Amino acid sequence: MSGNRCCKPTVKPALVCVILLAMPVRSAASPRAPHQAPGSRLTDNARVRAALDWFTPNISWVNDQQARITEIPAPPFQEAQRAALVKDLLAEAGLSSQIDKAGNVIGELRGANEKEIVVVAAHLDTVFPPGTDVKVHRNGSRMDAPGISDNGSGLAALLAFARALQFAHVKPQRTILFVGDVGEEGEGNLRGMRAIVDAYRGKLKAVVVLDGSGTDHVTTKALASRRLEALITGPGGHSWSDFGMPNPINALVRGSVRFINSKVPATPRTSFNIGQIEGGTSVNSIPHEARIKVDIRSESEDELARLESALRECISAGVRDEMESSRDRSKGKLEWKVELLGSRPGGELAADSALLSALRAADEYVGNQSRIERSSTDANIPLSEGIEAIAIGAGGSGGGAHSLQEWYDAAGREAGLKRALLTVLGVSGVAEGKSR
Ligand SMILES: [Zn+2]
Repeated sequence: MSGNRCCKPTVKPALVCVILLAMPVRSAASPRAPHQAPGSRLTDNARVRAALDWFTPNISWVNDQQARITEIPAPPFQEAQRAALVKDLLAEAGLSSQIDKAGNVIGELRGANEKEIVVVAAHLDTVFPPGTDVKVHRNGSRMDAPGISDNGSGLAALLAFARALQFAHVKPQRTILFVGDVGEEGEGNLRGMRAIVDAYRGKLKAVVVLDGSGTDHVTTKALASRRLEALITGPGGHSWSDFGMPNPINALVRGSVRFINSKVPATPRTSFNIGQIEGGTSVNSIPHEARIKVDIRSESEDELARLESALRECISAGVRDEMESSRDRSKGKLEWKVELLGSRPGGELAADSALLSALRAADEYVGNQSRIERSSTDANIPLSEGIEAIAIGAGGSGGGAHSLQEWYDAAGREAGLKRALLTVLGVSGVAEGKSR
């Protein structure tokens, strides 16, 4: 586990903890940025308060941007059109904006200290294939459409933050990068966030990921996972005249039964799933190939490694069993391979990190309570490298993620926007003086 690196430049983390602990539980405590003088708080700053006050009168603008973004399809590996819109909207909010080689949109709000960077990111991609009807149906504060919450709400929040900070002339201490990243879902394998961490590794002090709706959780623990494909091939033939030839589907079934009998521990929690199975051409043909796709997850990297090698051993044994039981091995041999389709590394944010302190102070300020969660998000990448990171919802409520019935309700979203923006400013700090 990583995430213990402390990078707060001016105030010791212990001091922040002491201040937070000293606050009365019921008071509307105000978060304080690490760069501000002891005793002064983030929300004592008039510009910060003006930025927070921007949300309520502008909620319908935020909702409109969310609908507009959601109606531009962004299937896996096809995020470019949506990225172009987000880039324009960030530029309209006064940020210098670009699209990097990976396809990520990056809008920059320059800090007093440009050598240190805080990233606030929302993924651009959806799980929905091209051709999915993504028209948004609105009814009051409710919006229905695939992708409206995951991650229309995160992207709308990103734009709202840029607008609010521009309106209030907030100049951060550390540079803030507003990122719409590609490849968060499925086989995208977090490639967008990997590119961001690669590009800014030395300067990157914290990453706040906005993913979906709500304010009920904070993901500080990155769930490690691997996706694998097992493929078995053979010569293939006729079901009657070539009977006795080794059959790739038979071998895959033999190997799969061995694999699903693997024992996994309850603690550390570990899971496996055969999610896809394919192969064969017709009922009266001996197939020439068969494949499965397998997802494995664990709180422990050791368990992941163990399960991955179990899959290889089981597939190999399935092939051996099939070859041994085939009547006529002269009719061909089976080949097999197991390939890694994707890997998400694990990691964990330290309980005494500056970022978690900033989130807790923001929760306190908006009167929110949130629980710590472990899950698989863009935050996996920075957390696995010891860079402070969390994933949180962007406010409002939602449901049906990854389904055609997905919905979002913007009622009360201001609290989520304030919570997330205060968290970002809590780690970026706010500089003296006005921006631009
Ligand atoms: Zn998402």
